[in-house]
Amino acid sequence: MTQIPVELDMDVRRPVRDDISLDENDKGVPIVEVAIQEKEEQQTEVEKDKYWDAIEVREIAQKFLAEDGTFSFPTNTPILYLFVDKMKNWGLCSRCSGRVKAASAYEFIITINHEVWSAMDERSREALVFHELLHVGFNMETGKYCIVPHDVEEFGRVVLRYGLWRDDVKLFVNAGMKAITLQEEKEDE
Ligand SMILES: [Zn+2]
Repeated sequence: MTQIPVELDMDVRRPVRDDISLDENDKGVPIVEVAIQEKEEQQTEVEKDKYWDAIEVREIAQKFLAEDGTFSFPTNTPILYLFVDKMKNWGLCSRCSGRVKAASAYEFIITINHEVWSAMDERSREALVFHELLHVGFNMETGKYCIVPHDVEEFGRVVLRYGLWRDDVKLFVNAGMKAITLQEEKEDE
């Protein structure tokens, strides 16, 4: 088996082995071989991104974690906060793999897009950190961690046309209305 070059040119999809090409997939090249290759390519890609300790993010998170009853997971849950120089999302909360846990004891990694972060005001930064922390889930009965999905996945246009047609949409819009009322009350004070 040929070694994957360290500096893999992502535009050239090189096969793991010299004697097979990706075009041969349909002719019975073992799937697992292709999967390994793709994984190694992804890893090469990941290593191109820069990650560093997100101290500001951790400080905001610790402020939230010090509040009583805000989260349903243990407040001493080991979470690593990282900045990344470029990413599609604003933030990402991911569950650590067994391999990462064995090496670091972290249960979750919260990664924040530093480019986006730099352009945000303090309030938006807090909202983003709060959002990512809400993805941290813990099952009291089993003692196992998980990723909590978003409350609602819906198109604005459906709500515009059909209103609050589902409970999750209703809850979400009600939260928005309440926030607007609270904001207005605060401004009147
Ligand atoms: Zn999210």
